[in-house]
Amino acid sequence: MKIQIEYGMCDGHGECVIAAPEVFDLNDDGDEVILLDDSPAESLRDKVNAAIKLCPVAAIRVEG
Ligand code: SF4
Repeated sequence: MKIQIEYGMCDGHGECVIAAPEVFDLNDDGDEVILLDDSPAESLRDKVNAAIKLCPVAAIRVEG
């Protein structure tokens, strides 16, 4: 799977970080997501899917 972030949409609430801390982090200002791993292992798919669902602005997309 390949993750893409619409950075312009991200409002930094960090729901994705709570759902999948292996994949997402917040920047030091806490206002934008940092993608730690744009091609995470398949074992993280459930967590990534949870992050996609929880993101309030639908800024996370996955291909594959
Ligand atoms: S959940 Fe969405 S809006 Fe919140 S930090 Fe993650 S990508 Fe940004």
